[in-house]
Amino acid sequence: MININHLRRKCIGCNACVEEAPNLFIIDEKDGKSNLIDSKQNKDFFNKVETEDEYESAKNAELSCPVNIIKVSKN
Ligand code: SF4
Repeated sequence: MININHLRRKCIGCNACVEEAPNLFIIDEKDGKSNLIDSKQNKDFFNKVETEDEYESAKNAELSCPVNIIKVSKN
């Protein structure tokens, strides 16, 4: 399994993570920031456990984020 963390408060809504991982991220039309789909909130962070088949796209989202607020790790 993999862990994905998203510090949503600092998101600038650039859409890069959505392009890299459309199964994981979507832009929220209310405020223009991205949401980590089906995540749980823990203060400023949104967390999600995913299967390893999402690892590559999650990592690409992490690498593409210009403000480095996506963190992906393997359990
Ligand atoms: S790549 Fe980073 S800054 Fe851009 S929308 Fe995704 S989380 Fe927000």
